[in-house]
Amino acid sequence: MKVIVLGAGIIGTASAWFLQKAGHEVTVIERQPGAALETSFANGCQISVSHAEPWANPSAPLKLLKWLGREDAPLLFRWRADWLQWRWGMCFLRECLPSRAAHNIRQIVAIAEYSRQTLQAVRAETGIDYDCETRGILHFYTDEEEFRASLPAAQLMRDLGCPRQSINADEVIRIEPALSAIRHKIVGGDFTETDESGDIYKFTTGLAEQCAQAGVGFRFDTTVTRLLTQGGGSSARIAGVEVIDEHGRHQTLQADAYVLAMGSFSQPIAKRIGVDLMVYPGKGYSATYQVRNSDLAPHVSLTDDGHKLVISRLGDRLRVAGTAEVNGYTRDLNEVRCDAITRRTRELFPDACDYEQPVYWTGLRPMTPSNVPYIGKTKFGNLFLNTGHGTLGWTMGCGSGRAIADIVSGRRPDLDFAFTGIPQYEARVPLVSVPARS
Ligand SMILES: Cc1cc2nc3c(=O)[nH]c(=O)nc-3n(C[C@H](O)[C@H](O)[C@H](O)COP(=O)(O)OP(=O)(O)OC[C@H]3O[C@@H](n4cnc5c(N)ncnc54)[C@H](O)[C@@H]3O)c2cc1C
Repeated sequence: MKVIVLGAGIIGTASAWFLQKAGHEVTVIERQPGAALETSFANGCQISVSHAEPWANPSAPLKLLKWLGREDAPLLFRWRADWLQWRWGMCFLRECLPSRAAHNIRQIVAIAEYSRQTLQAVRAETGIDYDCETRGILHFYTDEEEFRASLPAAQLMRDLGCPRQSINADEVIRIEPALSAIRHKIVGGDFTETDESGDIYKFTTGLAEQCAQAGVGFRFDTTVTRLLTQGGGSSARIAGVEVIDEHGRHQTLQADAYVLAMGSFSQPIAKRIGVDLMVYPGKGYSATYQVRNSDLAPHVSLTDDGHKLVISRLGDRLRVAGTAEVNGYTRDLNEVRCDAITRRTRELFPDACDYEQPVYWTGLRPMTPSNVPYIGKTKFGNLFLNTGHGTLGWTMGCGSGRAIADIVSGRRPDLDFAFTGIPQYEARVPLVSVPARS
């Protein structure tokens, strides 16, 4: 089959990889001059199966109230005259219900674990060098109450099969000695040795190169403007995709099947043909520092609970990322947030990096209210979804690509997940109760 993949972030590129492996003739359409130049460019870099708890959980509404009006709040809603944003906000509140959150965690763990295994297999097969560290993820706490509240969440993860161990402050320092400067503030942590980190940009561009070598066509500098439809009811199909090509010319491209993987921008394009995706951008920040003293910079990927930051070592660079603003499609850098990241990183690792020349960046997480992505089918027989991966698109990326390639090929993916538009999966997911966090 001829398949067109829309978008060359981690999700579109992983989809293209597995689609070509399944024997399809694949073309990827991307508005940027290369792969991974939007949200998959400079994120937190964690492959974090063990921290699958979505933002929408039973403790979120109270926290959001506490953070109201705080410019440096980890999660900030800036309400706009935007009906989608308000609807998204209402759905987010619904996903905070304990039963919904429990269902969502189970979904996310399932696809994330499948994806980590898939990433490991792709890494072994392709040999892509992406500053991968397989030393686990260490989450440390500086607030006694938050640490206590994390214990049931860690237990839940263990129940779901993730080896997330709660540990004391001495063990935190033993695992990552670079945290010694703030030893006196650390009250505990949890550690998952099976988690990983690595540069999403290097991986995605490396995979795109290998896709191209395997025969995948990439149309860069080409913007998708519209999906064209034909037929109605059960015979409704996509007839083509309208693009503006690299020379500014309008063209219609055609294939047998189409995979929508345009991150936050999947929503408006799908809406025009009556596919209502609840995907909204959640702007996040990152800072990248040059490491000056290797021994003083962490190697283990970290999560700083108090400041809601993730920290990953990428060779001779340190990447620190976090925070979210639900504020439309703007990517503006807010100086207050940038300064807060550098202040905190300098406090944690005072002499490790060059803090005078940080490289700041923002990206738009394609957020569903539940953080469970849309992977599956639509009412158009040949339009498939792979979008809405929110805070964990790198973690879920390779597995999502592999799963959608199976679905497009008419096969059943080998995991228990509520794939969109495939009812038998939705019915198979049991509910568990999720503990409330403070
Ligand atoms: C600050 C931050 C930290 C994060 N940290 C982590 C982490 O540690 N671990 C983790 O697992 N995840 C993390 N994430 C989430 C992860 O980065 C995203 O979920 C993931 O990158 C989304 O990938 P994507 O391919 O769906 O979207 P994108 O990478 O945005 O790809 C979509 C592509 O579609 C293209 N496109 C859009 N519209 C059009 C159009 N009209 N025509 C043609 N092309 C179009 C875009 O140019 C883009 O290349 C983080 C995100 C942020 C912002």
